[in-house]
Amino acid sequence: PIEPWYIGGPVIKGFGRGSKVLGIPTANLPAENFSTILSEHTSGVYFGWAGLSTRGIYKMVMSIGWNPYFDNTEKTIEPWLLHEFGEDFYGEELRLAIVGYIRPEANFPSLESLIARIHKDGRIAEKALDLPIYAGYKDSPYLKNSM
Ligand code: ADP
Ligand code: MG
Repeated sequence: PIEPWYIGGPVIKGFGRGSKVLGIPTANLPAENFSTILSEHTSGVYFGWAGLSTRGIYKMVMSIGWNPYFDNTEKTIEPWLLHEFGEDFYGEELRLAIVGYIRPEANFPSLESLIARIHKDGRIAEKALDLPIYAGYKDSPYLKNSM
């Protein structure tokens, strides 16, 4: 188990590649606002709860790091909310409670293997967040602050 940590901000435009290339949208946060807290956490895949100011609270799985597959030069925060929205929510306030760690960042031999692994991460997050040790963070005041 990890010590939960909390970050939030307006959803910004990323590289436009989550949905289009992977079929997995990630609601990016401005990483430069969190350089200190990010440097304290190892790159990899985490899970937790996401609060969207006008919508509610959702399970999420998130990658933090350099996205080796895409050779990024900047660290990014890429939360995938485990919910079907049917529309974008750029600019909305997104609050995250990060409560668990799944795996380190890894490179993948193909896009298919990367996508398969992200879906598996999503299933792990779904299940883990129902466990009593993680479920309670859904009620973190920080997530609801903007609602
Ligand atoms: P970008 O590179 O601009 O982040 P993406 O292809 O990763 O583009 O799509 C992310 C956007 O899709 C988010 O900013 C959000 O507005 C929207 N979106 C819709 N559904 C979801 C979801 N389940 N999880 C995350 N973002 C979502
Ligand atoms: Mg994205």
